[in-house]
Amino acid sequence: MEPTADLTLRNGRVVTPHGVVNGGISATGGRITHVGADPLLPRAREDIDVGGKVIFPGVIDPHTHMGVGDGWGEEKLEADFLTESKDAVSGGVTTLVTTSVYGPSPRVPMVQRNIASGEKNSFVDFRITALMVTRDHLDEIADLVALGVRSFKYYWGYNGPQAESFGLSSEGVQTDYFWVACERMRDAHPRAFPMIHAEDPDIRYLLIERWRERDPTGSLVSWAHANPNILEPLQLAQAAWIAEEVGVPLYMVHVSSHEAVQMIREFKAKGWRTVGETLTAFLYWTADEADARGVGSKGKVQPAIKFDEDRTALWRGIADGTITQVGTDHLMYARDEVGGNFWEKRVGLGPGLGTSLPAIVTAGLNRGRITLEQMARVLAENVARQYDLYPTKGVLQPGSDADIVVFDPARGRAAVGEDLHSASKYTIYEDEELFGWPDLVFVRGKLVARAGDIVATEPSGRYVPPA
Ligand SMILES: [Zn+2]
Repeated sequence: MEPTADLTLRNGRVVTPHGVVNGGISATGGRITHVGADPLLPRAREDIDVGGKVIFPGVIDPHTHMGVGDGWGEEKLEADFLTESKDAVSGGVTTLVTTSVYGPSPRVPMVQRNIASGEKNSFVDFRITALMVTRDHLDEIADLVALGVRSFKYYWGYNGPQAESFGLSSEGVQTDYFWVACERMRDAHPRAFPMIHAEDPDIRYLLIERWRERDPTGSLVSWAHANPNILEPLQLAQAAWIAEEVGVPLYMVHVSSHEAVQMIREFKAKGWRTVGETLTAFLYWTADEADARGVGSKGKVQPAIKFDEDRTALWRGIADGTITQVGTDHLMYARDEVGGNFWEKRVGLGPGLGTSLPAIVTAGLNRGRITLEQMARVLAENVARQYDLYPTKGVLQPGSDADIVVFDPARGRAAVGEDLHSASKYTIYEDEELFGWPDLVFVRGKLVARAGDIVATEPSGRYVPPA
């Protein structure tokens, strides 16, 4: 019989919004045409028996930073798109959302240049979050929405030199600034929203100095005490009240504490549109486990990796729909920056795209904390809905882009930073046995990565406009 489809994957377990289907999936012209039992699938030019493995929607990472790390700017962004998008696709991430470049220059031309750079260099599809730092930027919100931007990042949680390093004034984000920002987003588009880093900076700076004196060597446990849980609800409450009063959703990035999970749960129960995102690293590690396994300053992030009670609350939050997004906060820092005095080390998790799916399979699926269907929601569907990519992205169903990952959750191997595609050449999962490494990764029906290798010869990622 003549093949009638471009691609058919058979004999798998397909994770759909309606449950896991035994069978496979077909695609033509980059779009999914069939999901179902094997006999119902058309023969294809590329017809693959996946041997009972999981056929999963391509992961969408809502929180990455191309163009930041060792230096920042448009050249760094271009280089990062090339290397870090390979890391992404080898790890099963087929779409990423990255922040725009820092600094005070006008946002519209910058986002346009960032989009052009991604279209030239990225191996995965992408969206841009506009990083808002000056008062003038607020006047550009409507034009940014017209370019397809839905997410606007505000570096609340910083002041002084740290805020200045992002291009903010030393006061950081002020409440009146945030109020006006919320008004502009509300008026520009019903699905435009602010993303905030919510963590009180003043208490944090005070306690970091205290803990540095108390423990000069430093550890991730001391870092967690120096960046305590209550910093999150302190600032989340303020931001969520303003957003609710003005009438926009409020998206909190990298939720790390059980107190913030509970606060988001309560806000949602009141009908507020509060969105909780956490990081893969917070779902995998606790500070004490990471210290015991020698993660060191590679795990030094704000907010801090916290304790078992917090990790448990984050998994419960995913299970009950309080935490709906999972990202990595991926930054390309070179390995040279790791090591040395803990307190002097810069803050930021470094690379994570290439290990995110295996880390979630290992710590979540394989430990019974999450089902395949829940995993598909937090790693793909919810993110697509939040960023206005749904149903083009985020689900395995006819009509959607054929962004597909095939993996075996029962097969594990140790993570080795040197072997990953990120230019960072390290990982916070070094030597950890992770399961579910992707075997096949398709972006719009095209095989881009196989068993960790990039098989595509050229970047063919696209900027994805709103669905
Ligand atoms: Zn971030």
